Amino acid sequence: MSKTISILGATGSIGRQTLDVAEQLGLTVTALTANSNAERLEDQVRRFRPRLAVLTDEAAAKDLAVRLADTGTKVLGGPEALTEAAVCPEADTVVTAVVGMVGLKPTLAAIRERKRIALANKETLVCAGQLVMDTAEQYSAEIVPVDSEHSAIFQCVQGCRDRGEIRRLILTCSGGPFYGQTAEEVAGRTKADALRHPNWTMGPKITVDCATLMNKGLEVIEAMRLYRLPLEQVSVVIHRQSIVHSLVEYRDGAILAQLGTPDMRLPIRYAMTWPDRAESPLEPLDLLSCPPLTFARPDRETFPCLRLAEEAAQEGGTACAILNGANEEAVGLFLAEKIGFSDIPRLVAEARAAVTVVRDPSLEDILAADRAARRAVLDLV
Ligand code: NAD
Ligand code: MG
Repeated sequence: MSKTISILGATGSIGRQTLDVAEQLGLTVTALTANSNAERLEDQVRRFRPRLAVLTDEAAAKDLAVRLADTGTKVLGGPEALTEAAVCPEADTVVTAVVGMVGLKPTLAAIRERKRIALANKETLVCAGQLVMDTAEQYSAEIVPVDSEHSAIFQCVQGCRDRGEIRRLILTCSGGPFYGQTAEEVAGRTKADALRHPNWTMGPKITVDCATLMNKGLEVIEAMRLYRLPLEQVSVVIHRQSIVHSLVEYRDGAILAQLGTPDMRLPIRYAMTWPDRAESPLEPLDLLSCPPLTFARPDRETFPCLRLAEEAAQEGGTACAILNGANEEAVGLFLAEKIGFSDIPRLVAEARAAVTVVRDPSLEDILAADRAARRAVLDLV
């Protein structure tokens, strides 16, 4: 069980919920980081009294240092300081809750310090899954998923002694706010439409990814890396209610699932307490009052991002880093209202076609693929 944690991305949706869980479990918080929100980070520092607070934005970090002058918390600024928070000697666990590929370097640094990684930052595994998992094995660092689907699978494989017994993983997908709509209807959707997720309240980037189904595509890749399985053994099923969080089908036909109300504090808590479980104040799922559970096939024609991600997963090498970099850039442009909703899959597909895939990539190759994909998207717009 975790005792002392460092949170990368503390001011976001996962970061804030992690702090709630830390408070309930009585964990010590030793480092907190965020991008630029000095006001919110100041509140969190005053509440949890960490040794270190980091803002990647230098000007915001200066502001934070002034705000925290009366406390004993050390303040650092700049992207490199993120790694400083990741390797904090007091922390046994690092919660990676930043959004995007920026999480990669600090995650690798924390793994080399043999920290437990409570991993929410899926982009890191999508871009460099092989490298991250190999490094974790080399340093015997535990990677415990926070993403609800992967936590569900993690819980369903706890009794499994031979991974060869797994026939396939079944990831559930809410379908997002545009489920059931035609391609024409979906094409006209705005930022405000996309940010209205039916079941979860999350950061803007992942909420848009849920609407395009890219989130599920990224999660397919995340599952392949975490459980070292080929694409053929990871399937996706639409489940509108977000109550069955994912399933594992075994060789003998048995299917195990984890159910619960949609609340990220449960997978966050399990990532902290694993391999044990701790008493929780959360209301459990009431089977007698929950809606009927339904399942359907995803529509890869209307939502091509899922198919694009599966194709990148099949291709391997830097294909997933290119897919992810192009998607991060395209979603950023969509959130800035510079492109339309259906431009996201188009730009990702075009960037994939424009950037050459490198086999057996090094960290440098992965970072270069990410940069090239972002540049390709900007050139195309
Ligand atoms: P968010 O936007 O709410 O928060 C992101 C956090 O990262 C903030 O603290 C922000 O300050 C920080 N950050 C953003 N850009 C940064 C940068 N360039 N450098 C340093 N820090 C930066 O996002 P979120 O919804 O909490 O998601 C975080 C991660 O968890 C994502 O990878 C997401 O896919 C994953 N995830 C989120 C949920 C959820 O319910 N929110 C569920 C599953 C997985
Ligand atoms: Mg998820």
